[in-house]
Amino acid sequence: MQLGLTHSYAGLPDRFHAALRPTPVRDPKLAIFNRPLAKSLGLDVDALECRAAGMLSGNDLPSDARPIAMAYAGHQFGNFVPSLGDGRAILLGELRDPNGMVRDLQLKGSGLTPYSRGGDGRAALGPMLREYLLSEAMHALGIPTTRSLAVVATGEPVLRERSLPGAVLTRVAASHVRVGTFQYFAARRDEDGLRRLLDFVVERHFPDARAAANPALAALQAVADRQAALLADWLRVGFIHGVMNTDNMALSGETIDYGPCAFLDAYHPDTVFSSIDHRGRYAYANQPSVAQWNLARFAETLLPVIDDDQARAAQRAGDIIEAFLENCEAQLLARLREKAGLGNAELEDGALLKQLLLTMQEHSADFTLTFRRLADAAEDNRLEVAGIESWLPAWRARLQRDPRPGTERAVAMRRANPSFIPRNHRVEAALQAASREGNLAPFEKLLAIVQRPYDDQPGAVAYQRAPEESERVLQTFCGT
Ligand code: AMP
Ligand code: MG
Repeated sequence: MQLGLTHSYAGLPDRFHAALRPTPVRDPKLAIFNRPLAKSLGLDVDALECRAAGMLSGNDLPSDARPIAMAYAGHQFGNFVPSLGDGRAILLGELRDPNGMVRDLQLKGSGLTPYSRGGDGRAALGPMLREYLLSEAMHALGIPTTRSLAVVATGEPVLRERSLPGAVLTRVAASHVRVGTFQYFAARRDEDGLRRLLDFVVERHFPDARAAANPALAALQAVADRQAALLADWLRVGFIHGVMNTDNMALSGETIDYGPCAFLDAYHPDTVFSSIDHRGRYAYANQPSVAQWNLARFAETLLPVIDDDQARAAQRAGDIIEAFLENCEAQLLARLREKAGLGNAELEDGALLKQLLLTMQEHSADFTLTFRRLADAAEDNRLEVAGIESWLPAWRARLQRDPRPGTERAVAMRRANPSFIPRNHRVEAALQAASREGNLAPFEKLLAIVQRPYDDQPGAVAYQRAPEESERVLQTFCGT
C-alpha cells in the first residue's frame, strides 16, 4: 500500500540522517487509531486502519516509505551533547494534506538506530498512549502540537524498572527539525549543512522569509514569534512541558515530545512534575525564560549565515532574542485578558491579573476550575469563586468598563477557559489500566472528554474536578 509519501528530508545529504528500516515486532495489535486525523491528512481511512497494525508497527511499511533516522544534537538540562539523533524513531516520509500542508509521518519506538546510544530503541505502551492523549488534548485546546495517528502494541516486552508492554506511536508533525538539528551542524562547523538545513526550514515553515533582505534573520524572528505564542498558550492552560531541552524544541512552533509533561492542578508558578527535573529548571513559570535560552542557542548556530561580520550578526540576532520575553509576556497578557473576560485593554490590567494569580497561589486555587468558574461569575453578579473572593470586587468594577454585553462575554470566556484538561491523576489511572490490565476503556473515555475541552459535559463532572489530596500525582516520568 502507498500513502503518497514524499521525501524532502531524506533527499538532504547523507550526513543529515541514517537510512534504515524499523526492527520488526512479534505480534502487532492496533491499540488506538485516529480516524479524524487520518481523514484530515487525506488518507484512505478504512484501508489504513485495516492495515495499521502491520504498517504502523514498522513490520510492513508502506511501499513508498523511505525510512530514515534524523541526526541532531542538543542541550540536555544545559549540557551540550553533540550527537543525539533519533534513537528510537524513524521518519517514513512526508504527506501533503488536501490543504497543501506538508507533514512528517514518523514511527516512535521502532527499534535501534545508529543514534540509540545506550537505549533499546523501544517504547512502552503507557508513555506512547500518554503522548497520544496529551497531544490530542493540546490540539483540541487550540495549541500547536504534533499529532498522534496511532499506537500499535508490539506484543513484546520492554525492560524499564520492570517489564512493560511495548508499543510504537505514529507521530505526525509539521516537521521534526529542532534547535538541536541546527546545533548538530554548528558543532561540526558544517556551514554548508547549516545553510541547507535553513533552506529546508524556510521552505517548509517560513516561505515568506525567502524574500526578506536577510532570510536567516527573518527565519529567526519567525521562530521566535511562534515560540512566544506557543509559550503563552502553554501558560494559559497550565501546561508544563517538563523537558525543554533544545532537542525538544521544534522550529515549526509545535509542542513536541510529550515525556513527563503535565497540567497544573492548584496554581503555583514553581510547579514541577518531572522526576528528573531536580532543580526546577523547567518549572511552570520558568518556561518562557527557558525558551529564550533555547532560542539563543538557535541564534548562535545561525550567526555565520546572518552576516559575515560576526559582531554585527550577534548584535542583530541578540536584538531578537532580547525582545522575546516581552513579546511572550504581551501574548500572555492578551490571553489572560480573554480568560478574565476583558474585551478591551486598559493599562492597569496587567496588575489586576497578576493579583488574581497571586490570590490563586495563596489559596492553592485550582487553575482550570477557577477560570472556568469566573465565566459563570461574569454572568451572575452574586456568584462567588472559591479562593479568590477577595479579588472579585476589583474585577467586577473593571468589567463595568468592558464594552460587551454580559452573555457575549461569558460565551467568549468559556471559549478561553477549558472545563476539561487531562488531569494527571486521571491520565495515570487510564494508562495503568491499559498497561497493566490491557483495558483501554478508561483511556478511550478520557480521550473523548479531553477532545472537547471547552464544552460543558454534564455526564463528565468527575473528570472536571481537581484531585483529592490522596489522588494527587506529584511526579511524572519520561519512561524512556
Ligand atoms: P528525549 O528525552 O525523549 O527527548 O530523548 C533524548 C534522546 O534520547 C533522543 O536522542 C532519543 O532518541 C533518545 N532516546 C530516548 N529513549 C530512547 C530509547 N529507549 N532508546 C534509544 N534512544 C532513546
Ligand atoms: Mg526528544
